[in-house]
Amino acid sequence: MSMQAAQPRTADWSPPAAGRGVALRLTGLAAALSLLALLWWQESPWPLLVALAALILYGGVGTVGQLRRLRATQRAYQLAMQAAHDGFWEWNPVSKRLAVGPRLLEILGYSQNFLPDTHAWLELVHPDDRAHYNRTVAEHLKGRTPFFYCEYRVRSHSGEYRWIASRGIAVRDARGVAYQMAGSVTDVTERKRHEEQIAHLARHDQLTGLSNRFLLAERLDEALAAARSAGGCVALIFIDLDRFKDINDSLGHRLGDHLLQAVAGRLAGGVRAGETLVRQGGDEFIALLPDVTGREAAEARAQALLELLETPFLVDGNHLHVGASVGLSLFPDDGDDAEQLLRNADTAMYAAKRDGGGTVRRHTPAMKERVLHRASMEARLRRAIEQEAFALHYQPQFETATGRLLGAEALLRWRDGEEWIPPDRFIPVAEETGLIVPIGDWVLENAVACLGRWRGALPRPLRMAINLSPRQFWSGDLTSRVLAAAERHGVDPGQLELEITESMLLRAEGEHVAVLRALRGRGVRLALDDFGTGYSSLSYLHRLPFTSLKIDRSFVGALFDEDGNYSEGGALIPAIVAMAHSLELEVVAEGVETSAQLVLLRDLGVDLHQGFFSGRPAAEADFVRRFLAAGGR
Ligand code: C2E
Ligand code: MG
Ligand code: MG
Repeated sequence: MSMQAAQPRTADWSPPAAGRGVALRLTGLAAALSLLALLWWQESPWPLLVALAALILYGGVGTVGQLRRLRATQRAYQLAMQAAHDGFWEWNPVSKRLAVGPRLLEILGYSQNFLPDTHAWLELVHPDDRAHYNRTVAEHLKGRTPFFYCEYRVRSHSGEYRWIASRGIAVRDARGVAYQMAGSVTDVTERKRHEEQIAHLARHDQLTGLSNRFLLAERLDEALAAARSAGGCVALIFIDLDRFKDINDSLGHRLGDHLLQAVAGRLAGGVRAGETLVRQGGDEFIALLPDVTGREAAEARAQALLELLETPFLVDGNHLHVGASVGLSLFPDDGDDAEQLLRNADTAMYAAKRDGGGTVRRHTPAMKERVLHRASMEARLRRAIEQEAFALHYQPQFETATGRLLGAEALLRWRDGEEWIPPDRFIPVAEETGLIVPIGDWVLENAVACLGRWRGALPRPLRMAINLSPRQFWSGDLTSRVLAAAERHGVDPGQLELEITESMLLRAEGEHVAVLRALRGRGVRLALDDFGTGYSSLSYLHRLPFTSLKIDRSFVGALFDEDGNYSEGGALIPAIVAMAHSLELEVVAEGVETSAQLVLLRDLGVDLHQGFFSGRPAAEADFVRRFLAAGGR
C-alpha cells in the first residue's frame, strides 16, 4: 500500500488512466518530430515554426483534456470508495512504499498519515496475524492466487485492535513480476465480533460458561495427534454428579442450575492451563488432560477433582451434598481414538456409579461386558414388569431384648427364568430408567396385601417394612397411595414402615418435608435405612419425623474381627444408639449374622434386629411356616 510516502498529506488514489495519457502524448511527440526532420531537410524555417506551434497546441490541448478526464476518474473512484466506506491502499512491492487513503486512516483512528512503508504497517498488524498476512501477500505476489484477500487485526490509534478485510490485486510486468499492488480495506470488526460470539456460543455451555462437547472433540483430536507424535499420554475424566437428579427434581430447576454453576466453578479450579473442562450436558462434566505423565498421575488428578466436590455446596441458602462418580480412560492404554476413549471413560463412570458413587474407576476391559449386560438387563426388566416376574421375600425383625417377632422387611426378588436376581443388581438399572416407579407400586401393593393376610396370625399386629426408591418417593401422591393400599387390605397405617435412604433426605425440603409429615401424621412409620453409609447428617434427623434408624450391616459386621475379638470398627454403634435414643428413635441393627453380635447389640441397647442369624429373607409361605406358625417365638 503506498501513497507518496514522504508526503505530509494523504495521497489520492491514482487510477490507471494516467499511464494511457502519457502513452498518447509520446505518440504525438514522435509524429511531430518526424515531421520536423522532414522539414529540416527542405531547409526552410516556416514549416518548422508551423510544425512547432502545432505540436505545442496538440500537446497542451491533449494534456488539459486528459487531466480533466483524469480528475473525473479520480473523483469517481473516491466517491465510490466513500460510498463503500472502504479504505484504500497502493503499494510498491519493490520499494515497499505504501500509500493509504484517508478512510483507511479513519478506520484506525488516525488523522495524519504516518505509514511510509510496509514495515510501519506490519508494526500495526496483530502479532498473531502477521505470519498469515505475510503468507497471503507472498502467495499473491508469486501469482499463486488470482487476487489478494486477507482478514487480520490492526492496532488502532486507541491501542485496540480492529479487524480489517483487505483485498487487492498486483500489476505485473511482461515477465509476470509484480511491480504494483493496490486494493481496498473494509472494517469488519463488528462482523468478526459476531462471528466470535457465534463461535463461542457454538463451543461453550450457556449455563456454566465451560466448553462444550464440540470444543472437546476439537481439543481431544489435537491432544491425540500431539500425543501420537510425541509418544505422550492423554487422560479423559468423566464426572457425573451422584445426587443431582434428586436435587433438581425436588428443589427445582433454578436451584439445580445454580448448583451446576457452583460445581462448574469448583471443578474449573482443579484444571490447569492447557487442559479443558467441559459440561457434557445435564450433570456430566469431562476433563481432558492432554499431557499427563501416566496412569498414576491421571488417577491422582481424577481423585483430586472428585474431592473438590466433597465439601457441601451452599446454594440459595441450602447446604447440598453432591458427590460424583468419576470414570477415567487413558490414551494409549484404553483406546486409540477419541470415540473409544470417550466411550470407555463413560463406561468407567457407570462402574463408579454402580459401586455406590463417590469414587473413581479406571476403565478395564471387563467393563465392556457389563455395559452389554446392563442394556440387556433393562430389556429383561421391561419384560419382567409385563409378565409380573417379581416376588417379595420377607425377612423377620425381632425385638432384641425379648426375641419377639415384630414384623418383616419386604425385599424384592426377580426371577428371570431359573435365576433369582438380587435387587442390588437390578434396582440401580430400574432407577436409572424410571422403571422403579411401576415396580415400586407393585411392591407396595403386594407387601401390604401380604400383611393383610397375616392379620390375626399373632395376637399382636405385625409390621411391614417397605423399601422406597428416591424417584418413587417423590413421584405423585405417595401418601394417598400408601393409605389407599392400607385401606384396601385392612391394615392400620401404623403397621407400615417406609424405609428411606439418606440420599432421599437431601431433598427433604419444603413440600417433601410435608409428605413425610403427612405420612407420619396418618401413623405411617418412617425408617432411615443404611444409616452410616451415606453423608449421614444428623441435622436431618432433628427436623424430620423419623421413627427408626437402621444401622447399616457394615457396622454390625465390623463389631468383631476375624478372630472373634471385639473390634474398633464397631465402636460407632454405641454412639449411634445414644444419639438415636436421644431423638426418641428406635434403633434397628441389620445384617446380624452371629449370636455374639446379637448379644453385644442387645447389651448396647439396640431395639430391633434382623439378619441371617435369626432369619434369612423367605417367600411368604416359608415365612408363615417358620415364623408365624410358631407363634412369633
Ligand atoms: P436393605 O433395605 O438394607 O435390605 C437388607 C439387605 O440385607 C437385603 O438384601 C437382605 O437380604 C440383606 N441381609 C439381611 N440379613 C443379612 C445378613 O445377615 N447378612 C448379609 N450379608 N445380608 C443380609 P437384598 O434383599 O439383596 O436387598 C438389597 C437392597 O435392595 C436393600 O437393602 C434395599 O436397599 C434394596 N431393595 C430391596 N427390596 C427393595 C424394594 O422393594 N424396593 C426398593 N426400592 N429397594 C429394595
Ligand atoms: Mg431396607
Ligand atoms: Mg439397609
